[in-house]
Amino acid sequence: MTNSINSLPAEKRKMNWRLQGACSTHPEPDIWHATGSTAQSRSDLDEALALCNGCPVREACLDWALTNREAYGLWGGLTEAERRRILRIRIAGGESERRRGGRPLAACGTPSAYDRHVKLGEPIDDACRAAHTRASAEKRARASQQKPTSLEALFKAHTKRLYGGHLAWTGPVKPSFKGRSYNPKQVAFIIDRGREPVGRVLNDCGNSECVLPAHVADEAERHPTATKQLAA
Ligand code: SF4
Repeated sequence: MTNSINSLPAEKRKMNWRLQGACSTHPEPDIWHATGSTAQSRSDLDEALALCNGCPVREACLDWALTNREAYGLWGGLTEAERRRILRIRIAGGESERRRGGRPLAACGTPSAYDRHVKLGEPIDDACRAAHTRASAEKRARASQQKPTSLEALFKAHTKRLYGGHLAWTGPVKPSFKGRSYNPKQVAFIIDRGREPVGRVLNDCGNSECVLPAHVADEAERHPTATKQLAA
């Protein structure tokens, strides 16, 4: 048995991404086709999966396998069963029919596909979830190396969308800007309302971690009458 990449005819190996694949020079290409439930098979598949997960051309590989309905082996870090599941989701959603501006929709296994699933309320497959996690980690790493120039920039750099329309804070517990410390909900409130909050800023969406500006309120908004009486 041969590796899913190395088994291809010579003319098909010309595409650059394939030659950059972590599997293209591996001494034991059979591990990308390990099947069965023996300890050795599982170990081989785990090794192949780990290499796929760190592979620089993973997204291109997965896209190719999905587009060409590759039936066997591990491609782009996904097994045959996982790829079949993605294809079923695509077909159920009529993905092949839906195009924006003439461009095909982003392939599963990419951050754009994850965002689309969230937006449309579609099931989220493992590949998209992993791509989103990777992209978020990269975004956080980039953000941690840059000093924000405004509270808005600080907020944008340290938040990520959650399923259900919530927003999670991914930065430090007590972010600071221009020498002042905040808590994340205060930042959300200030950049949205354009004023300092009165009292504590809490959210009312049922997700205690959510910092979506529309989901947070200060004392003046939660108890407007009491706040006015106190101020009078
Ligand atoms: S993602 Fe996996 S199968 Fe695809 S090129 Fe990379 S190592 Fe090979």
